[in-house]
Amino acid sequence: MKNTKEKDHYLKEIFRLEMSGQSISVSTLSKVLGVSKSSVSNMIKKLVAMNLLNSAPYKSIEFTSHGRELARTIVAKHRLIESFLVEVMNFDPKNVHDIAEEIEHIKSPAFFRKVQQMLENRKIDPHGSPIPDVEF
Ligand SMILES: [Zn+2]
Repeated sequence: MKNTKEKDHYLKEIFRLEMSGQSISVSTLSKVLGVSKSSVSNMIKKLVAMNLLNSAPYKSIEFTSHGRELARTIVAKHRLIESFLVEVMNFDPKNVHDIAEEIEHIKSPAFFRKVQQMLENRKIDPHGSPIPDVEF
């Protein structure tokens, strides 16, 4: 896949929709992501081929267990970084989302373990969303 960021973005958005109990379809994703239905369909095909999603005609798109684990990790990274930026670096919560979008793509598990430690295993991000409990 040429663009890991794009893949991560889809997984995060699907995770968010799943958590809020919404059914996940090409048209829902096309709306929330602001991209065409054909780009969404193409990406869903790739994510199915990677065994991250299950998709069948007329059924809601679902995570495989592997896909859900990966999505939880990405969401945890994002929310930990947002918490770190506010708690440790004194950023305004309004301004942390875009920075977190960039930093969350760091791979190093040691980095995220350290962030968790410094936040004393905080459970809620600055926007009030729960931080998934992930072992990096
Ligand atoms: Zn955010």
